[in-house]
Amino acid sequence: MDTNNFETFSVSDALEYFKKSADAIILADGKNDRYRTILKRKTIAEMLPDEGSYLELVEKLWYHFNKSDETITENYKVFIPMSGRFNGKYSKRLNIFFNHAIHIFQMTVHPIVKEEIYLIIIDELDKTECIDEKLTTKKVDTIQNTYLFSMYFDIIRDTTNSVCVTEISDETLNTRLKYSEWRKTIVNMIWKDDQELFMERTSPEYLKKNFAPGRTSSFDCLMQNLEGKYIWVKLIFSRAETKNDDDYRFVFMVQDIHENTEKLISTLKKYEDLASKDPLTSVYNRGRIETEIDNAIDKKKKTGEPISMMILDIDYFKQVNDSFGHSVGDGALVRFSEIINEYIGDYNAVLGRWGGEEFVVVFYDTNKKKITDIAEELRQKIEGEDFERIGKLTCSIGTTEVRADDETLNAFDRMDKALYEAKSSGRNNVKSL
Ligand code: GH3
Ligand code: MG
Ligand code: MG
Repeated sequence: MDTNNFETFSVSDALEYFKKSADAIILADGKNDRYRTILKRKTIAEMLPDEGSYLELVEKLWYHFNKSDETITENYKVFIPMSGRFNGKYSKRLNIFFNHAIHIFQMTVHPIVKEEIYLIIIDELDKTECIDEKLTTKKVDTIQNTYLFSMYFDIIRDTTNSVCVTEISDETLNTRLKYSEWRKTIVNMIWKDDQELFMERTSPEYLKKNFAPGRTSSFDCLMQNLEGKYIWVKLIFSRAETKNDDDYRFVFMVQDIHENTEKLISTLKKYEDLASKDPLTSVYNRGRIETEIDNAIDKKKKTGEPISMMILDIDYFKQVNDSFGHSVGDGALVRFSEIINEYIGDYNAVLGRWGGEEFVVVFYDTNKKKITDIAEELRQKIEGEDFERIGKLTCSIGTTEVRADDETLNAFDRMDKALYEAKSSGRNNVKSL
């Protein structure tokens, strides 16, 4: 401003200044979903067409990623129509990623007539003007960085208000969305297998029954994030403190727990492996294959499906250790289990190491005739193999079909007896009982 005309500076001077300095002046008509730019410069001139849809304008200014030019996934666009309805003047700082850089704008909205017509003024800010602000917003609680959205709702009145979708917008939307409708929208963002759980846990009946005033509870599921990827989230519900039994107001929050849950799952998997796998051969250990036999016998009783099993014992394995040493013996056990594993790949079968040089395989959907053929084929396969340093190895196999009145012990004994017969009749053969 020219200080000379401080005394005489008028409204028209102000408007003249404004005309030169603002980066955009946009007229928007919310009701008829359109806008047109009255003035635009620099980044805004490149970014915005002269005219277009009001909802698209809202999407460009509010509903986008602050740090990339990706657009939010289709499902989240449900929030767009709820935004951008103004009763009074409104001002907001916008971070917009455009042309590989973050641009910071100050936007002010002036509702100029009742019928949802707004004058939107935008100024691009110099980055240095905002650096302090950036640093302070970084300091927010970590929960602020991990929650995707939150909402306040009332299940008696079936209303929601103050929906807040972080990352795309840190402000609350004043919605007129019914809670019941909100559930039907959100359920589409939940992983298919988790949808039933989501509908159960978000139902007014469930919330009424399980939440005393002030009670907070949560559950985890997979949900689409803003980019459309499924991530692990924690859905947290908290009922407001109240003395009124009929007052069922809740706060709901979705927290992104993806990274931690992935780590947790891989740790659990590691423990599961440790508990169920044989460290030498990586096939199931004795405990795990015993459980498999128990389950197979239960299944036989329940469904009557033909189920069979076999035990394989390497012939004269002690001599292998004596002649080549224990570590060559170990290598042979690994290779032996690999051959069985590869072979049973074509079947619905589960392999475990019973102990020492003995292995057990449970075959589902397999009767006595079929298991005998399979065992014979497998015996020949092993006989045809060259074991490193050792050369030829053979094995004896005992098989049996599970009977409806079997218990684990006697079914196993029958199979073990078949193995004994295979051994005593010269080894390198199959016996079925
Ligand atoms: P058979 O034909 O009667 O089955 O004779 P075998 O020598 O295979 O049977 P035996 O039960 O006498 O010996 C089994 C041998 O398996 C004894 C042991 O040295 C060996 N063995 C058991 N577990 C391991 C292991 O983890 N590593 C190695 N290298 N050898 C093992
Ligand atoms: Mg043995
Ligand atoms: Mg043996």
